[in-house]
Amino acid sequence: MSTNNPLLQDFKFAPFSKIETEHFKPAITEAIQLAKSEIENIASAETEPTFENTIEELEFSGEKLDRVNSIFFNLNSAETNAEIQKIAQEVSPLLSEFRNDIILNEALFKRVKAVYDQKDQLDLTTEQKTLLDKKYKAFSRNGANLPKEKQEELREIDKQLSALSLNFGENVLAETNKFELQITNEEDLDGLPESFKEEAKGVAESRDKEGWIFTLDYPSYIPFMKYAKNRELRKKMAIAFGAKGFHGDELDNQENVLKIAKLRYQRAQLLGFDTHAHFVLQERMAETPEKVDSFLNELLEKAKPAAEKEFAALEKFAKELDNIDRLEKWDSAYYSEKLKQKLFNLDDEKLKPYFKLENVIDGVFTVAGKLYGLQFNETSEVEKYHPDVKTYNVTDENGKDVALFYADFHPRPGKRGGAWMTEYKSQYIKNEKEERPHVSIVCNFTKPTKSEPSLLTFNEVTTLFHEFGHALHGMLANTVYPSLSGPNVYWDFVELPSQVLENWCYEKEALQLFAKHYKTGEAIPMELVEKIKESSNFQEGMQTVRQLSFGMLDLSWHAIDPTDINDVKAHENKAFEPTKLYPDVPENCMSTAFSHIFQGGYSAGYYSYKWAEVLDADAFEYFSEKGIFSKEVADKFKNNILSMGGTEHPMTLYKRFRGKEPQPEALLKRAGLIEK
Ligand SMILES: [Zn+2]
Repeated sequence: MSTNNPLLQDFKFAPFSKIETEHFKPAITEAIQLAKSEIENIASAETEPTFENTIEELEFSGEKLDRVNSIFFNLNSAETNAEIQKIAQEVSPLLSEFRNDIILNEALFKRVKAVYDQKDQLDLTTEQKTLLDKKYKAFSRNGANLPKEKQEELREIDKQLSALSLNFGENVLAETNKFELQITNEEDLDGLPESFKEEAKGVAESRDKEGWIFTLDYPSYIPFMKYAKNRELRKKMAIAFGAKGFHGDELDNQENVLKIAKLRYQRAQLLGFDTHAHFVLQERMAETPEKVDSFLNELLEKAKPAAEKEFAALEKFAKELDNIDRLEKWDSAYYSEKLKQKLFNLDDEKLKPYFKLENVIDGVFTVAGKLYGLQFNETSEVEKYHPDVKTYNVTDENGKDVALFYADFHPRPGKRGGAWMTEYKSQYIKNEKEERPHVSIVCNFTKPTKSEPSLLTFNEVTTLFHEFGHALHGMLANTVYPSLSGPNVYWDFVELPSQVLENWCYEKEALQLFAKHYKTGEAIPMELVEKIKESSNFQEGMQTVRQLSFGMLDLSWHAIDPTDINDVKAHENKAFEPTKLYPDVPENCMSTAFSHIFQGGYSAGYYSYKWAEVLDADAFEYFSEKGIFSKEVADKFKNNILSMGGTEHPMTLYKRFRGKEPQPEALLKRAGLIEK
């Protein structure tokens, strides 16, 4: 036993100051062994299987491994280095092997199934029923009920699928890296912001080339499409971007797409589902492909007329400005940006002085206080993994401990981009002792400079509220079992707490609490707030139709029997028909680079983005009706959603909060797509 390894000793809070990088691998290896022996004890028990000695034991097994893993993987995102990354590569296969071994453990499944089969005779709480169902499905959805040879078939499919997804991703990456647009004539840079040009010059220098180089990476591609005046060059970039995995060469992904869709279908059939989408949606709020399909179509019907109007307006604008006759895909971002500037003339620099980071943090804490009675007190008694991290004790109105909250706001080398919420420890109750959660948010906000404090863009403000909404889901959790606690919910439900909180950023009553000029203390002028609101709805019809088109393309591959599909592009064009606005580009194909669904975990799940918006708009409408700081609605939201985690089906929880199922009208109204 490596007893001097701080990770293997008992600790209340992550003992960052004592942890050395070399502690991780032995700690994880040993924690896996410990978890394995706990699992073995459950599987080999000779007593009759019961909920307590099987399901509950299984739930609480691997506690040490969870704590060590959370520290390790959170650091690998927020404060990593080459050594940590190397360890991650080494331990990841060990961890997936460990998880696979559990799922394939026949003796264990026999006991889980024995409990599951008598579930109606057992006197279980609702939460226990959910846990039993979840544990059972973890096995059955991986083939535990199948005869041996079918199980082997399933393993073979899984093996092929993971190889194909990997290859799909590698091809997209290679295609992205392969292309560069080199410009040597300065006139071709017309329209591009100075700082952006400088970056492109830097890229060229780093490649020992002349002039400026633009690539298909988002930070290069997106501004180029938005600002480059030269239409031919925009066309060149757009076509290169849209043709990833579609060149008929060794990096082509068409075969991969067809094979992945077909194997997923076969896998679903083996497990007794109609299609892959039926399989996936069994564990989603939306439940069935039929429901997702009618959801997407209902929104399309409402959004399409608005989108067509916006498209016509954009085309007219481009005609007036540059005599463009037919608006093409490579004109979209460029003229949209110009039109937006003309209509709103709103730039970040005007807003930023009102959003000093410290004021916005105070604001989000005040909002949480008014809604849920929470208090945040900065503490120096908890160890941090970096001096920039802030730590807070969170208490309720009675002074009772609610959570420990870490906040890590600014970029630095070793932190990945973006913003996210995570936990160092979940909330749960074990042996009647309540454990409160350790929740963290990590962001990459503009840093203070010598002359200015950290001033956030409005986008950063909503990001902070978003992540803080996730954090509230974690902090206010009040369940027994950790795997059902806080944000451990179906993933078309997980964005409700985060997105709903963003709404407060647009409300006068909330903004006047914190949006004050950092020099003069003057409150943000309401006409600016109105402008922010209006501009956030700019081209909302077209944006909606675009999102719907991706959701529909996703379903077109996964909610059907794909056996007879041979032509990826033809199939895709058919799927896009109802959402089409721009002329088709024959050289381009979306599916061959649609990493969300063919590489990542979003297959049959792309609709979730819009689904979550419908939920958050519908939920916020309830707050608006009763007042955005209504204690009554906040209590309902806390008691039925935030504290309940995944203990019940999300639709049940939602209806208990709202009194009815979510309706798309609130979103359509907020987005200006139907009359208020
Ligand atoms: Zn989120």
